[in-house]
Amino acid sequence: MTKITKITQKIISLPLKTPFTTARHTVTAAQAVQVEITLANGLVGVGTGTPNEVVTGDTLASCQAVLTDVLIPSLIGCEFEAWEKLLATIKNAIQGNQPAKAALEFALYDLRCQIYHTTLVNLLGGQTATVTTDMTLGIKPLEQMVQEAKEFVQQGFTTLKIKVGSNGITNDINLIRTISEAVGPEIKLRLDANQGWSRMEAVQALRALAIANLPVEFIEQPLAAGDIAGLKELTQLHILPIMADESAFSYADAITLCKEHAVDYVNIKLMKTGGLSEAEKINDLCAASGIGCMIGCMIEPTNSIQAAIAFAGAHENIKFADLDSVYMTKEAPAGLELAGPELRVK
Ligand code: MG
Repeated sequence: MTKITKITQKIISLPLKTPFTTARHTVTAAQAVQVEITLANGLVGVGTGTPNEVVTGDTLASCQAVLTDVLIPSLIGCEFEAWEKLLATIKNAIQGNQPAKAALEFALYDLRCQIYHTTLVNLLGGQTATVTTDMTLGIKPLEQMVQEAKEFVQQGFTTLKIKVGSNGITNDINLIRTISEAVGPEIKLRLDANQGWSRMEAVQALRALAIANLPVEFIEQPLAAGDIAGLKELTQLHILPIMADESAFSYADAITLCKEHAVDYVNIKLMKTGGLSEAEKINDLCAASGIGCMIGCMIEPTNSIQAAIAFAGAHENIKFADLDSVYMTKEAPAGLELAGPELRVK
């Protein structure tokens, strides 16, 4: 048996090329808490977790405090081979705090890969860790968003994600139409309102988009996270597919959404689920319920994006990838090969 003997942590921060704004906040760097777990046999596993105060409800400082006070002490001395018990120890040590838990899980999976001499995608049951991602346009003045959209299409992206929901429905529809006209109808659009619309606004938006016949793949989180009944109503209109993001953190959330068939798709982010094990359960449940999934991300450094790519590569029900944060940092992401919108783990 091999015990966990040491866990260290530090903050990593990669400045973005330009600040990124959603309906909720502005981000200027891809930041994370990086943990290193050392086993008695000398192996070291690395993982990172990125908090997001408006989504996961935590910060770098709170992640570090929870690791120091609760999570690290609960893992030191545990047997590495007791895998399920290790994962349960992390889950049950404290409520919430998913990014800190994700960092530890990734480090444990990294150790497992080293012990089994395999890659994460193989370990999870897949063959190749490759995805094609969309590219997200943050909220900026219209002309700037149109310019950025054109640049992304020139770089090879065939799907753009547009952040809406902070500027009123009329402006939102005008923005979507203007961008679509600028890049052409073959470029698919994904819309993310980040809870920014009321039920009435969302219905208005769906109807306007249907009339405009724009190439919209889905609308992500149009309503407040807790408005499951509202999401179900929108989904049942069958005008455009509806995706849950902020409404779907845990397996328990997924049960509610799937039982009600309240959405067409669920956006799984490893920072919401606290790592890979809960994400696998959510994806399996959604697959059994006829609900497809997207793999998404916060503004994260490479380590956790590699895990997200492996997760997507291993699961057929992951229909879409939104892992564009690696394109946003000034520094080129280590450990990944980028070919236009295609991301591959090296
Ligand atoms: Mg979202």
